[in-house]
Amino acid sequence: SVSNIIDEASIRQIQEYIDRSGQIVITAHLSPDGDALGSSLALCQYLQRQGKKAEVMVPNSFPYFLKWMEGAEKILIYEHNSAAGRHHLEQADLIFSLDYNILKRVGDIGPVIAASPAQKVLIDHHPYPDTLFDVTVSHPEISSTSELIFRLLFQMGEYEGLTPEEAACIYCGMMTDTGAFTYNSSNPEIYEIISLLLRKNIDKDAIYSNVYNNYSENRFRLLGFTLSQRMKIYPESHAALIYLSREDQKPFHFSKGDTEGFVNYPLSIKNIIFSTFIREDDDLIKLSFRSQKNFACNEFAAEFFGGGGHLNASGGEFHGTMEDALQRFESGLEKYREKLKKNNL
Ligand code: 5GP
Ligand code: MN
Repeated sequence: SVSNIIDEASIRQIQEYIDRSGQIVITAHLSPDGDALGSSLALCQYLQRQGKKAEVMVPNSFPYFLKWMEGAEKILIYEHNSAAGRHHLEQADLIFSLDYNILKRVGDIGPVIAASPAQKVLIDHHPYPDTLFDVTVSHPEISSTSELIFRLLFQMGEYEGLTPEEAACIYCGMMTDTGAFTYNSSNPEIYEIISLLLRKNIDKDAIYSNVYNNYSENRFRLLGFTLSQRMKIYPESHAALIYLSREDQKPFHFSKGDTEGFVNYPLSIKNIIFSTFIREDDDLIKLSFRSQKNFACNEFAAEFFGGGGHLNASGGEFHGTMEDALQRFESGLEKYREKLKKNNL
C-alpha cells in the first residue's frame, strides 16, 4: 500500500489553487534531468486533462535522451525564449516549482517567479526549501520529485485517470534519480508505486533503453577517454576525481547530456566512496559529486563550491580556472580526509 505522506491541508490547498487557476506554469531546475522533466511533464498533462492551460518552463536545454517524453517538444526553454517566458510567468495564476528548493536553482527564471503575483507551490525532495512559497511540499526522504507527483495525484484520488504517458514520465523520473533503482531506493513503497505504474501499461524496459542505451558514439568514446586519461584516485581518502577541460571535450563534439552519469563510474572501484566530476563549461566550471554510505557529499558541495543537493548526490559551481578548481577540490579533500576514512566500509 502507498501511505499518505503529503499532508491533507497542502493537498486541499493545491486542489483549490488548481480549481481557481486558468493559466499554470510548471518550472524545473537548471540543466533539467529525468526527474525534473518527468515530474513536470506528468503534472502538466494532468492539469491539461483538467482543462487548464498549463506549460512546462525550464531555464536551459535538456539532453537528447529525454526528448521522447510526452510533451517534451513543447517545453519552453527560457534561455531561448525569455520574452515569452517572462510574459507567461507574469500572466500565470499559479506557478509550480518542481525538483528544486531555492530560486537560485532556476537561474534567470528565479527573479521573475519572485516578482509574479501568482500563487506558488513547491513540490520537491531537496533539503532546506525556501520559505517564499504559498504551499511547500518538501520531502527529502523521498527519492524523487516524480514519486511525489505520483503520491500527490494518488492522494487526490486521481490514480484511475492517470494515462500511460503520465505514468511513463513519472517512472522515468523515479528511475533516473535512483540510478535505475541502484541507490536511494530501499523504501518498499517505491516498488508498490512501480507496480501501480506498470498497471498503466508502461514499457519499463523501453524507458530504460530510451535513457541509458541511447547515447552517441562520441559520448561513449569521451567516457573511455575520461576514465583512462582524466581520473585521479586518492586511496587514503577513498575518493576519486574525474575532470574534463573544454580542450579535452573538443575532439568528441560535446553535446548536452554527454557527460551525464560519468560521475557514477568511479564508485564501482573497490573502496571508493566519494566520486567527483569537474567539467569546464563555456562560462563556468560545473561539479558533480556522488557518495556512498553516510558521507555527505552535499556538505562538501556547499562548503567548497556554493552548491548542495542530496546526501549522496550533489553538485556545485566554480568560477575561475580549471587549475584553481582542482586545487580547491584537493584542499577540500584534505580537510574531509578523516570523515572519509571514518565512513569507509
Ligand atoms: P548532478 O550531479 O546530477 O548535476 O546533480 C546531482 C544533484 O545535485 C541534483 O539533486 C541537483 O539538484 C544537485 N545540484 C547539482 N548542481 C547543483 C548546484 O550548483 N547547486 C545546488 N544547490 N545543487 C546542485
Ligand atoms: Mn530530483
